[in-house]
Amino acid sequence: MELPIKRPDRIIPDYSLTGDVLSFSRCQRSYRYYNGSSLPPSRPVQLWYGEFLHGMMERTYRLWQENQSLPFPLHCTIPEEGERPDEPVGLPALDLRVIGWPIEQALAHQGKFARSSDARISAYERAEAVINQLGPHLFPLVDVAERKVIGTRPLLPGQNSNVERATRYILEGIIDVLGHTQLDDQPEGNPLKAAIVATQPDLNGEYEIIIDYKGSRRPPVDTDERSDWQLGEWQVQTYAWLRSQQPEARPVAAGILVYIGELAPGTNELSSLKREMRRGRTDVVPANGTPDYYQINAWEPGRQVNLSGDFKMRRAIRIIPVTQASMQAATAAIDRVVRAIEDRVVDERTSNHIRQTWPADSQDEATCVACDFRVSCERYNSRPWPQSGQ
Ligand code: SF4
Repeated sequence: MELPIKRPDRIIPDYSLTGDVLSFSRCQRSYRYYNGSSLPPSRPVQLWYGEFLHGMMERTYRLWQENQSLPFPLHCTIPEEGERPDEPVGLPALDLRVIGWPIEQALAHQGKFARSSDARISAYERAEAVINQLGPHLFPLVDVAERKVIGTRPLLPGQNSNVERATRYILEGIIDVLGHTQLDDQPEGNPLKAAIVATQPDLNGEYEIIIDYKGSRRPPVDTDERSDWQLGEWQVQTYAWLRSQQPEARPVAAGILVYIGELAPGTNELSSLKREMRRGRTDVVPANGTPDYYQINAWEPGRQVNLSGDFKMRRAIRIIPVTQASMQAATAAIDRVVRAIEDRVVDERTSNHIRQTWPADSQDEATCVACDFRVSCERYNSRPWPQSGQ
């Protein structure tokens, strides 16, 4: 007699948009090691960097909200090289080091630390740049801060329904929402309002704009499904869909991604920008003949540049129009990624072999350099690299 195969217990897997879907898209192997293992990563540095910057924006926004103003620019006592991340003493309450200290502590309690002293310094420099350059324009626009958005979606069918562990999955994220009333009240000179109006000139009635921050630079324009350009678009569209599931939500008209790295560009940002301008791979470039144009073209590593605030802001702000069709396309893409993760979970259960099941398939050198598992990674050890942005 043939016995039926026991069906696995049904659960509803919980997927975070950034922690799971985007991480898996960047590299399946590192995703598995970081998120699928019961062991926490030894240095979850990418998490630290992004969460630190989000935390700085949120805490500073709360302070602005309590007082309805802040004395911008806020000073930041940048940590010195090699300095231990101890509690800062003797600094004014509004120094960004003082604002940042509880965030560093909270992250440390979760086992999250900066990769190096340089990474910590860079995080404070970028926090200073985004808070002082964007904060005065952004904070008055915020309607809802740090709102958790959550929804369930059907899991695409796999090849063998007997081994499926779920028919639906939960998707969640955290967003800030900008309101139409707050936008209407702002002067035309507000760079966020100007960028929204330039891409969405017909906006009227009641609507919302959602916003998210990336610690990185603006990625090159790319149609590859796994490129940072495309993943950023999917993320915003999916946040918009999740927001639309909440009863109090108004229609989401657009999403904004803020690339914080553009506000304080360093050697990596400038060399990538120069290369992408030469190859026509980036969408925001300085006008020919302007000081920004000459500075970038003449830039060499080690040379200082003084790019205009307007150009840096235009590079930092990416507006992504949201429609029903665009949300549908993005969520369908996210469904396919979740299906692929579920397939790997089933494959691993069958093969009992992590390395064979989860390919090391990062396309980005920076992701690999920050990866804890690079020493034993066949891809990392088979340079030269496929350069991102080429
Ligand atoms: S080194 Fe790169 S390719 Fe290898 S596991 Fe880490 S992120 Fe993936």
